[in-house]
Amino acid sequence: MSIDDKLGFVKFVTDEHESHILIDEEYADEAEIKRLVMACPAELYKYIDGKLTFSHEGCLECGTCRVLAGGKGVKSWTHPKGAMGVEFRQG
Ligand code: SF4
Repeated sequence: MSIDDKLGFVKFVTDEHESHILIDEEYADEAEIKRLVMACPAELYKYIDGKLTFSHEGCLECGTCRVLAGGKGVKSWTHPKGAMGVEFRQG
């Protein structure tokens, strides 16, 4: 089974009120922003008109952005509250 096939089984319960990841929207290091955009497997980071944008819906909670940003660009990273977030059904 391919990775794309496995991701088809992923279920999300999205926190509609609060993002578990907060970004610094004023962050302006273009090279670092592009690394974030390229590294997120869920393609949740966008670089539009010179600004970093982010949507937490569909986050795989892989932690890549947390490690990559090293406190810059990503201000805070936690797992979603309670039973919210991603549920992997195929390991
Ligand atoms: Fe993307 Fe992973 Fe960061 Fe979620 S934790 S925003 S999937 S890089």
